[in-house]
Amino acid sequence: MLIAKYMPHEPKRRHSKERKGKRRASIKLALKKGVICPNCSVVMLPHTVCKACGYYKGIKVINKKDKSVKKTA
Ligand SMILES: [Zn+2]
Repeated sequence: MLIAKYMPHEPKRRHSKERKGKRRASIKLALKKGVICPNCSVVMLPHTVCKACGYYKGIKVINKKDKSVKKTA
């Protein structure tokens, strides 16, 4: 068989649950890094406008009531 010569190998045996668990033991969900908003003290992403109050570095950037964006900074 000429075709079979160039085919990739199939795994001969399946890996055990233990081996799978050991491999996946280092895979974890990473918590996203957050900072506390100085205006409303909600955890938010660093270097971004606060989604809760719309403030960035003490300046109101987004008016959260009518959702119009004002660039002041
Ligand atoms: Zn805020």
